[in-house]
Amino acid sequence: MQHQTRTARFDDLGVAPKILQILYRHKFNTPTPIQWKSIPAALDGKDILGIAQTGTGKTLAFGIPLIQRIAQSKGTTKGLIVLPTRELALQVEDTLKKIGGPLGLRTALLIGGEDMRRQIRAIDQHPHVIIATPGRLNDHLANKRVSLNQTSIVVLDEADRMLDMGFAPQLQRILAHVPAVRQMLLFSATMPSEVLNIAQSTMSLPLRIEVAPMGSTAQGVDQEVFFVKNNEKFDLLAAILPEYKGSVLIFCRTKHGVKKLAYALKNLGERAAEIHSNRSLRQRLDALEGFKLGRHRILVATDIAARGIDVKEIQLVINYDLPEKPEDYVHRIGRTARAGLSGHAISFATSNQKRDIAQIEKLIKKVIRLSRLPMLKKVDQKISKFDEQRSFHRKKRWQRPLKKRSFRR
Ligand code: AMP
Repeated sequence: MQHQTRTARFDDLGVAPKILQILYRHKFNTPTPIQWKSIPAALDGKDILGIAQTGTGKTLAFGIPLIQRIAQSKGTTKGLIVLPTRELALQVEDTLKKIGGPLGLRTALLIGGEDMRRQIRAIDQHPHVIIATPGRLNDHLANKRVSLNQTSIVVLDEADRMLDMGFAPQLQRILAHVPAVRQMLLFSATMPSEVLNIAQSTMSLPLRIEVAPMGSTAQGVDQEVFFVKNNEKFDLLAAILPEYKGSVLIFCRTKHGVKKLAYALKNLGERAAEIHSNRSLRQRLDALEGFKLGRHRILVATDIAARGIDVKEIQLVINYDLPEKPEDYVHRIGRTARAGLSGHAISFATSNQKRDIAQIEKLIKKVIRLSRLPMLKKVDQKISKFDEQRSFHRKKRWQRPLKKRSFRR
């Protein structure tokens, strides 16, 4: 990870000296990737949409900026952390106390199954940070035992899990109690459309950060690479697809590549959809939903558009084009073999991309199996019409051939 070698210490992230001392005392010397990316932006007050699993260091990624902003505001800034389970709540409180305790940070833990009186006492102490599960926090709000009208930083941790557990209405109720001007930090291991919807409705231009679940992803995936000429990629794809009956996610490097490939696959009789940044959010959500429900067997995507998509049971990931950065390879193939299922990843590389493959192998600490190209049959992609349409739309209006006018009413 290039950026980590460039900035390998918390000192460079704008962390205050007192907090640095505490971090070093606990032997937190080097920020993890999610910390490296989140801390400066969160200290700046930006909204963050972080895709990261437990174990990546995400608690301190939001915990450090939260503590520092509260300390610098002399206690006028208040924080709220909403998360799905008691276990996680306890863990997060523990981490916050470790770093914030010596600075006088007060926390209140409002979780189900715990003594109410103790929680009310903690609320009466005017905590700087409330750490809560949605159900119990709503109980306190409904009984007017707690007020969130001074809350200016909200963290939603493990948002996907909260939604899986059916907490969406509770979250909405909670957010309605928080002032509209606030900083939102949302962390989720995956980014299903429900989480994106929450992000859309609660955040302003969030910084989107994703970290791979630390090398582990690549391990359960059967990986192979074909060296193939550019003009034979489609023929190879057409030869491979019938061997797999399940869902297939295909990555192309450019938006145009995605559009063209989706078009050609449809001509081949495949049920294919596309996602890339030229499509509206609605179109992307529709494509994803259709892919999840099996309406589309194939989804063709660019890296950016596919970040965090959570579709279980993808049988095959195809790198039609290799990714620009080796890290993206891990994100891409992490889409298959989810939830303990086995998965396949097939990469198409051209003969001048041997070094790219070597870099990927170095990152995943694994040799990718080299497969022999089968006998290929030329397949007509029928894309002449696609190219015609594209060149028509690229022309300025006055360069386009005039439409025949009809004078008939
Ligand atoms: P989390 O993903 O926040 O649950 O953190 C996972 C584990 O990583 C916890 O045990 C943390 O104490 C530890 N951890 C978090 N940040 C760092 C760091 N920068 N250096 C070393 N360990 C860390």
